[in-house]
Amino acid sequence: RPTIGVLALQGDVAEHLHVLDQLDVHAVKVLGPDHLDTVDALVLPGGESTTMSKLALRYGLMEPLRKRVAAGMPAYGTCAGMIMLADHLLGGTADQETVGGIDMTVRRNAFGRQTESFEAAVDIEGVGAEPFDAVFIRAPWVESVGPEVTVLGSVPGPDEAGRIVAVRQGGLMATSFHPELTGDARIHRLFVDIVKGQA
Ligand code: GLN
Repeated sequence: RPTIGVLALQGDVAEHLHVLDQLDVHAVKVLGPDHLDTVDALVLPGGESTTMSKLALRYGLMEPLRKRVAAGMPAYGTCAGMIMLADHLLGGTADQETVGGIDMTVRRNAFGRQTESFEAAVDIEGVGAEPFDAVFIRAPWVESVGPEVTVLGSVPGPDEAGRIVAVRQGGLMATSFHPELTGDARIHRLFVDIVKGQA
């Protein structure tokens, strides 16, 4: 059973732990660099990415996180966690840093005022034919991706390509939305399969 950490600086940590507890993994909170050493993979929750960035710097986690991701640790970020995994960020604050790892440009708070929060049925590659009930809360979108990135899901946008809301690059995955809030464990299960080398 792999040990999967949830970055527990800020955000909806308990919800992710709750989903992971239903899967065949050992789920733990990661609060500092010593905890990070003990996990095989990491989930970065939704929350507030500027605060998450500040706390990661304050608790000496930013560099260790970058090192583990660069060394191949699988990681999955939801919403603010997606922002944390972006190599390039638009709409961040001046001092906001990301861990990076996924070759993508993410736009923070991208969906406009009228759609600050919404739900949509989104087709997600690799989790079965049934669309995923995706909850977006002041969500980012992925503005562009590099050649190593696979787009797993999009919502309708201004042009045919739509807006990218789910991506994967090797062992790294990110979604704009919050599967930890809707009781559908398929995306977490996909991540666990990736961690086990089965997807
Ligand atoms: N808008 C938040 C941010 O920029 C993310 C929102 C979320 O995680 N639900 O960090």
